[in-house]
Amino acid sequence: MAAKIIDGKQVAADMRAELKAEVTELKQKGIVPGLGVILVGEDPASQSYVRAKERACEEIGIYSDDNRLSADTSQEDLMTLVEKMNNNPKINGILVQLPLPKGLNEAEVLLTIDPDKDVDGFHPTNVGKIVVGEKAFLPCTPHGVIQLLLRSGVTIEGANVVIVGRSNIVGKPLANMLIQKNSKGNATVTVCHTRTKDLASHTKRADIVIAAAGRPNTITSDMVKEGVVVIDVGVNRVEDATKKKGYRLVGDVDFEAVKEKASLITPVPGGVGPMTITMLLYNTVESAKRAAGLVT
Ligand code: NAP
Repeated sequence: MAAKIIDGKQVAADMRAELKAEVTELKQKGIVPGLGVILVGEDPASQSYVRAKERACEEIGIYSDDNRLSADTSQEDLMTLVEKMNNNPKINGILVQLPLPKGLNEAEVLLTIDPDKDVDGFHPTNVGKIVVGEKAFLPCTPHGVIQLLLRSGVTIEGANVVIVGRSNIVGKPLANMLIQKNSKGNATVTVCHTRTKDLASHTKRADIVIAAAGRPNTITSDMVKEGVVVIDVGVNRVEDATKKKGYRLVGDVDFEAVKEKASLITPVPGGVGPMTITMLLYNTVESAKRAAGLVT
């Protein structure tokens, strides 16, 4: 069976159109969702990521307060800026682009962000709320994965899900979200990592495989069952002399072979990637609604 490709760009475009309509309605009530963005240093990948976030805000009508700081910014100045954003009612979400340059303490900065404006969902308060099943900002990439599944008609409830990767930004929060007793959860989840014995024995049993290892070809076709749903979070550069940049992007899954066995699969690029920024916009709009008392 050749898989149906999950078009992340299309799902993201649909969600952004929904958000744009919502923002237009909010503006009629005098509410303008605002995102505070802080980029420290000149890292090219971070710069292009932040530019994409700012463009996305503009596209759907979110006010974006952009702050570019030099790499030699002090911890104190950075914390002061975050505090200012915490106290600024025009800002509903704060995004500090990671990684920060060497010498700056990331954990301390993230702890300073008001959990009610933590639209990345990285603050321990939000992480804890997810674990105990309370309402919280859901971290963007894992939430994007869940939206891709649900909007592709995949039943998560009761599914055997195998996640490959246990990072704090993808694997662990995704596992916590998928085991919750709610409409986006109720799955049976296995989390694999580099110390997992016989990875294939786990992935072969999975109804849904989610690869977030950061390593090409981690999932090959002999490791999955017929009809599996595959979500590839990985983004890896592999050398390619035919490309202008000298490389191309691939995921963690051997896409060409696995797509012949899967029922649904995400490509890289064009799968999970477009969803991450979309879920950041979603959280910012959600935060503005909460601040205005429109939702709890
Ligand atoms: P990370 O912090 O490096 O974590 C990778 C995880 O995968 C670790 O838990 C590691 O296990 C596990 N792992 C690595 N190789 C493995 C293998 N051969 N078998 C089993 N487990 C293995 O990476 P991350 O930040 O979670 O990101 C994962 C990938 O997703 C990266 O390619 C990243 O670029 C991509 N990503 C994409 C988006 C997006 O928006 N599309 C967002 C975030 C991340 P150990 O814990 O034992 O080391």
